[in-house]
Amino acid sequence: MQLIDGKAVAAEVRAEVARTVAARRADGRRPPALAVVLVGDDPASHVYVRNKVKACAETGIRSEEHRLASDVAEAELLALVHRLNADPEVDGILVQLPLPPQCDATRVIEAIDPAKDVDGFHPVNAGRLALGLPGFVPCTPAGCLRLLKTVHADLAGAEALVIGRSTIVGRPMAALLVAESATVTIAHSRSRDLPALVGRADIVVAAVGRPELVRGGWLKPGATVIDVGINRVTGPDGRARLVGDVCFAEAAAVAGAITPVPGGVGPMTIACLLENTLKAAA
Ligand code: NAP
Repeated sequence: MQLIDGKAVAAEVRAEVARTVAARRADGRRPPALAVVLVGDDPASHVYVRNKVKACAETGIRSEEHRLASDVAEAELLALVHRLNADPEVDGILVQLPLPPQCDATRVIEAIDPAKDVDGFHPVNAGRLALGLPGFVPCTPAGCLRLLKTVHADLAGAEALVIGRSTIVGRPMAALLVAESATVTIAHSRSRDLPALVGRADIVVAAVGRPELVRGGWLKPGATVIDVGINRVTGPDGRARLVGDVCFAEAAAVAGAITPVPGGVGPMTIACLLENTLKAAA
């Protein structure tokens, strides 16, 4: 069984981004710039934003943080997005989700210039991905594909199962796999007989948000498993720990290759955000 090391792959991606940024600067061009918009005081969002800003600094990308109060009016948030759209010194714009209830996330995302939409959530970028056209791809599924490619240089004809149909992970993941000529099934909460669907897949991408939903005994022997889930659970010793959507201990005995949680998909998401920011600047 091969353990797919997301930390190591993410480090390679970051190093490549840092090299490209340095080459740009040596050419006399300004560093790529990412504007991060953080609304309110959700502690998890603060941690995500801090990690993104830190990763930018480590690779030479300039970042600017725009913090707005949790009771900010939607109009004010939209005005900020419009200002960032018009700012020639800003290449990428990221609005950290979730937003407080008075701000409609769809409206805010649709306000971002698709050419600066480094999260890839704008309908223009989602549509381009669905049509197989180039554009910004959401960072988590882009990272998953990158990890899959470390195991399978060619995914053509592979039976792939994506569990989850969210706009952030499941749907774009399925579109990426179709573009790689895999045969793709998308499972969700209304799917019948999930174990049978898992059992025929060469590749399983689990993006559900249910701790250890996928059992090792469901897997086809030798399958490649990408576990997107990040679930905080309390272990038998009373300590909090992170587990994925796949029961790692069981799956590791059956799978051909598998991502751990943590240290699998997680580190890839920010690495792909840095790549998207570089692309926006180019
Ligand atoms: P989400 O928006 O809640 O979507 C979950 C999907 O799972 C939905 O499509 C849902 O089906 C499906 N589902 C729920 N219960 C199911 C079941 N019993 N069987 C089959 N499908 C089921 O979640 P998300 O944003 O895609 O995130 C999924 C997981 O990935 C979470 O644990 C999240 O924390 C993690 N995540 C990790 C990263 C990272 O950087 N590693 C990034 C993003 C998310 P319906 O559509 O029918 O409701």
